[in-house]
Amino acid sequence: MSTTLPVPLLVYAQHQSVLDLEPARDVRATLPVANSTKSFWFTDPDVTPLPTEGSEGPLTDDADICIIGSGITGASAAYHLARSLSDGKIANALGRPVKAVILEAREFCATGRNGGHLVSHTFFDFLKCQTEHGKEEALRSYNIEEYVVKEVTKLLEENSKGDDVDLVAGGRLILFFSKEELLEAKSDFLAAKEIGLDLSGIQWFTKEETQAKYGASYPSVLTPGFSLWPLKLVGVLFSLANKIGSGSSSSSPTFSATLHTRTPVTSILPIPQSSDINAVFPRRHNLNTPRGNISCSYIVHATNGYASHLLPHLTGSNGIIPTRGQIIATRAKVGLDILTRTGGTGNEGLEYWFPRPVKQPDEKYPLVILGGGREVKPQFQFYEIDDSIIDKEVGKALRAFLPAVFPGRFEPGNEPEIEWTGIMGFTRSGDPFVGPVVDHNNSSNNTAYEGQYVSAGYTGHGMPRAYACAEVVSQMIVADIKKEKWEPPEWFPRVYLMTNANRKEYAKV
Ligand SMILES: Cc1cc2nc3c(=O)[nH]c(=O)nc-3n(C[C@H](O)[C@H](O)[C@H](O)COP(=O)(O)OP(=O)(O)OC[C@H]3O[C@@H](n4cnc5c(N)ncnc54)[C@H](O)[C@@H]3O)c2cc1C
Repeated sequence: MSTTLPVPLLVYAQHQSVLDLEPARDVRATLPVANSTKSFWFTDPDVTPLPTEGSEGPLTDDADICIIGSGITGASAAYHLARSLSDGKIANALGRPVKAVILEAREFCATGRNGGHLVSHTFFDFLKCQTEHGKEEALRSYNIEEYVVKEVTKLLEENSKGDDVDLVAGGRLILFFSKEELLEAKSDFLAAKEIGLDLSGIQWFTKEETQAKYGASYPSVLTPGFSLWPLKLVGVLFSLANKIGSGSSSSSPTFSATLHTRTPVTSILPIPQSSDINAVFPRRHNLNTPRGNISCSYIVHATNGYASHLLPHLTGSNGIIPTRGQIIATRAKVGLDILTRTGGTGNEGLEYWFPRPVKQPDEKYPLVILGGGREVKPQFQFYEIDDSIIDKEVGKALRAFLPAVFPGRFEPGNEPEIEWTGIMGFTRSGDPFVGPVVDHNNSSNNTAYEGQYVSAGYTGHGMPRAYACAEVVSQMIVADIKKEKWEPPEWFPRVYLMTNANRKEYAKV
């Protein structure tokens, strides 16, 4: 197998040990920096909503539900709230639609800084998950991702939005740069198969077969998967939330979601229970922003890597670790007929790429979106929260990666057309924190957290999880409003719950 790759191999154990370390310095997240690099996904001027929607004029000062963050989690939360409230029962009790406000520190949607893969993990890490959490949880970890990919693609098709978001069912080719990776993947595959997972779409290729089909001399496995324009997907979810909430010709509006971009939430203060105690929604929280304050009853923290700014107990290695990812968009030197429409990943998932559809009349060869390269840095870019910075060493590795893996298909030394960074939210366990906000170490804080929910910490793998985690949080809020008991959907891994004391983050290290 090749030894000339520009990234170190088999570093995942080291990656985990750095992730497990408690940092010596103060690493509480700052607010998102104002002057971030510009991602490819923001180069289309016609995206909706406008990146700066609701950034000027009066700020809404009162809402039933405040969603902090306008990425895929925030927009999915609005979408699921709209669906759950569409029976109109709460709107009837209130005599008006339920009001949600989405507050975004910068322009609409940091998910619009990512790599554009919507791919389930399939059988990967199945054995690890089964050993740590048992068979049922391993199955749920698989099922939630299958659920999201199915639901999101269905939603796009039903609303005729697949072409608008450049949805491509090209699959994902996983290249094995080392024997160890291949053996581990085969063990995961066999364990998952034995338990009865449907792995019928999976195809294994030898080094020679991969070379003949895809131009890379490594053994590989092809799994189902999609690529898309992430910013546009999130825009679709946001607009559907308002469409569903506005009702139909025969029904009244039940829900509205107002977006205020360039409105960072700087702090949250409790409102003492007072005069409106008998209201359907007593106001409990006051959100402070540079543009004014907003009172509300429920909060959804959809801030991912930035979560510890407003939830300080999520600071450090037992919380959500901001982690900078870097991406280049580089031109291939062959067409899609040779390159294929298949996306890929390699080096234990640390590099990931896919070819964009060729759409412009003057475009001969596709632009390929490639992310990764963090492993050339000893600290893997953990606790880096400034996405105005492009790391030179990471950039060098990214520039050299595709020409090394696919000789003849990319021009060595070719400069990318655009390069950017974005902030992910890692957790030690790899599992997001979902559900009511709790502080396990200082329970006296928990009264102030009543009515506050979180869904964050997807560890660089949010596209196939955030939609469903936001659904769970929305269900919890609606159940609380209706004074009903919330029951987890079968596909939801219980270990994701922030209240679950069995999480790795709560174990003594
Ligand atoms: C470079 C990169 C590549 C990636 N590639 C992929 C990929 O290909 N596939 C995949 O599955 N996942 C990928 N991810 C991960 C994926 O993008 C995330 O998991 C996903 O965006 C999480 O969505 P979110 O809405 O929870 O958080 P985000 O998308 O990060 O959105 C959080 C939002 O909250 C806002 N915010 C934060 N604090 C505040 C505050 N105090 N007040 C107001 N607003 C605030 C932020 O500005 C931001 O818009 C990648 C991430 C990065 C950075």
